[in-house]
This record gives sequence, structure tokens and C-alpha cells, in this order.
Amino acid sequence: MQENPPGNGGKPIFLWPASSADLREAAVQLGYYGYVAELFDSLAELLAAETRNPTGALVDCGGGDNCLSAADMSALAALSGRVPLACMSNSGSIDARLGAVRMGCQAYFTRPLDMSSLLDTLDRLTAPPQAEAGRVLIVDDSPALAAFYAANLNEAGFVTQVVNDPLKTLEALNERPPELILLDMNMPGASGEEIAEVIRQQDAYLSIPIVFLSAESDVGRQREAMSLGGDEFLHKPIEPEHLISAVKSRVIRYRALRALMVRDSLTGLLNHTSFKERLRAEAARAKRQGKPLSVALIDIDLFKKVNDTYGHPAGDRVIKSLSRLLKQRLRGADVIGRYGGEEFAVALPDTPIAGALRVLDNIRESFAAIVQYAGDKTFQVSLSAGVSQYGAASNGETLIQAADEALYVAKHEGRNQVKAAP
Ligand code: GH3
Ligand code: MG
Ligand code: MG
Repeated sequence: MQENPPGNGGKPIFLWPASSADLREAAVQLGYYGYVAELFDSLAELLAAETRNPTGALVDCGGGDNCLSAADMSALAALSGRVPLACMSNSGSIDARLGAVRMGCQAYFTRPLDMSSLLDTLDRLTAPPQAEAGRVLIVDDSPALAAFYAANLNEAGFVTQVVNDPLKTLEALNERPPELILLDMNMPGASGEEIAEVIRQQDAYLSIPIVFLSAESDVGRQREAMSLGGDEFLHKPIEPEHLISAVKSRVIRYRALRALMVRDSLTGLLNHTSFKERLRAEAARAKRQGKPLSVALIDIDLFKKVNDTYGHPAGDRVIKSLSRLLKQRLRGADVIGRYGGEEFAVALPDTPIAGALRVLDNIRESFAAIVQYAGDKTFQVSLSAGVSQYGAASNGETLIQAADEALYVAKHEGRNQVKAAP
């Protein structure tokens, strides 16, 4: 059994049979990406180990169309009801594929095993359900009402933040942009319409849904509020179920739109602009809370040569493999972006530079060990990284700049290394 990679609980994956050379190789590769692969000699042993709650199972069915015994197939069919099951085989025939489907296989691979697509599939099959229903900012001058809405939304799985002074709205937005704003209309200091207008005048907040929640019965004023950037108008008092369903549908749509806008399509990581936005927010938070923050710039070594030697699609797979490694190894609170073509940026909140250097060096080591595939050829690629840390005079820009200078040193001193900014 392999060791857990650092910084990750590791998802257990059961592989059978251990006699399969492809599975033994897959076990090593899976280990780099945060899976704990365990090989079993017999199916009976695998089934007996089910009490340890594997997140998935991968079975090598071997050569022909009917290479598993009927007993094995029915045992696997039962298992597949409880554990996501993927199969691999020599045969791509309809018979073999049908057999697999009837056994409950959710994915089917033929040899030679494409690790990249195996990993994509396992990531998908073993992804935990998204934990939080959404982040909602409630702006209402009545503490009691705001707390009541917050309690209702919390119960439905939403994470809420309450602001009672409308003039504090921007601060709250900057700290952690919500996925929806519930906005009261009649408040001392500034009206809901005015706050909506202020929010909409900033590009970063152009698309956050704003739902007015108010006792306002003047239809003209309601219409006015909507024209200033509101998405919906809900009447106080409101039934909790109505509030929750209105918020939920807006958040779901916002997430889908947002994913298209802020994510890089190849890797699913934050794109350049979005990363910088998040970094600015993290730097502001580090300042306010007096907590450490480290930033790393990562660049794949001699990547042009990879493209030239193995082709652009193989290069793309290398980029994806690094993005996957970063997602697996870093914590949920870390911010990961595709900063440029083969360049990545990471912000590690609450992390002093010594810790960041350790994490990055582990990632560097794992990445260099990953076997990359291009048709029947294999190769390995390394990365270099520069790491900077937040200091009194830092902001997002200076953090990136310092990391970039350290990256330059790492490249200059021979690549495949992680350097700290002075
Ligand atoms: P160094 O170690 O100094 O970083 O060398 P390098 O070859 O990695 O650096 P260079 O910046 O000269 O080359 C980067 C190459 O990355 C050039 C570009 O064609 C390639 N590239 C950029 N984006 C992509 C992409 O999305 N897919 C692929 N396959 N290649 C890309
Ligand atoms: Mg580069
Ligand atoms: Mg490079």
C-alpha cells in the first residue's frame, strides 16, 4: 500500500488483480494524485476490505470478451451498487463493454491505459458532493430580521454573512465575495437601491445576483430598484421555503455562469484575471488579520521542448497533470490559478513561507516523478517555482513580482527547484 501524499487525506482506491502489470503501474501513478491505491490478489480479499470504505474500485478484466467468471461478475455487480466501479480490458468489443455495463461499471478503459483519462474519470466518480449550498451576504439594518434569514438559509446549507450597516457592504464583499446578496431597501445611511448601484459599478461584482428583500410596496420604487441592477424582488415577510428556493436557483445559475467566466477551460483552474482578484482579497485579509500569506509562481521546465518532441496535445496533458496535482495537494482554502500558458500561481493563506516552500517542494518532487504519456512513448517533466511571503509593504502585485524574481533564480540555477524570494 502506498503512503498518503502530504497535505491530503488520500482517497482509497481498490485495484484487482494485483497480477496485472497495468494496475501496478496505475497504482504508482494514482499515488501522485492523492489516491491511496491498494492492490488485491483475490477478489475475495477486496470484498472483505470493503469495510474500509474505498472511494472507488478498478478492475482489470484481462484479455478476451468473457474473462471473468460468472461468480466474479455477480460479486462485482453487487459491489458496484455501493462503490463506484471502473473496468479495463484488452477488448473494446460491444460484448465486452456490455458485460461491463451489466456488472455496474461506470467507466470502461481499453489498453493501453490512458492515465489522464483514468484520473479524470476517477476524480469525477469519487468527487464528494459540493459541501456548501452557497455563500450569501445579507444586508439589513434590522439585526433580528437579518439573523432570522441567516438561520433559515444556514439550515438549508448556505453559508451566510450579515451586515447591519449598509456602509460596510463593500468591506464584506472584498473579504470574500458572496454568490448572492440579499439586500434590504429601507436602511439608514444608504438605501438598498444606492448600495446596488455602488456594487454594480465595480466590474468584479457585476454578475453577483442581488435579491431585494423588502417590505416596500410601492411598485414604482420596486421597478426602479430592479433597473439599478437587482435580479429579483421578494416581499417581507417571506416564507422560509420561498426564500430558500429563490436563493438556491439564483446561486445555481450564478455558479454555472461564473464557471464559464473565471475558469480556464483546459484545467478548470482560475484564469489569470480571477486569480489576481482573489490574490488581492487574500492580501487584504492577511493585512487585516495579521496572518501570514505565501504566494508561489510555478513554471514547467523546458516545456517548449515537450511540445516540439511529443506534440501539442501531449503538452496539454502535461499541463492538465500539473493542475490536477495542484488541486489534489493543496488545501481547499488555497487559491490556484493558471497564470499563463505553462505557468501556474498559488496563494496559500495562513501559511508562512517555510511551510509553503515545503509544500511546493513536495509538489515539485511528485511532478518530476509522474510518467507522462504520448502514444507509446513516455517521458518525465520537471517544474521550477518561486515563493514570496506577505510583508508590511506587500500587495497582490508585489507578491507576484517577488515570486517571479525567485522563479527566475530557480530557472537560472538549473531548473527543477523551488526558491524563496529574498
Ligand atoms: P523554461 O524552462 O525556461 O520555462 O523553458 P520553456 O520552454 O518552458 O519556456 P518558454 O516560455 O520558452 O516556452 C513555453 C512554451 O509553452 C511555449 C508555448 O508554445 C507553450 N505553451 C503555452 N501554452 C500552452 C498550452 O496551452 N498548451 C501547450 N501544449 N503548450 C503551451
Ligand atoms: Mg513560461
Ligand atoms: Mg517554462
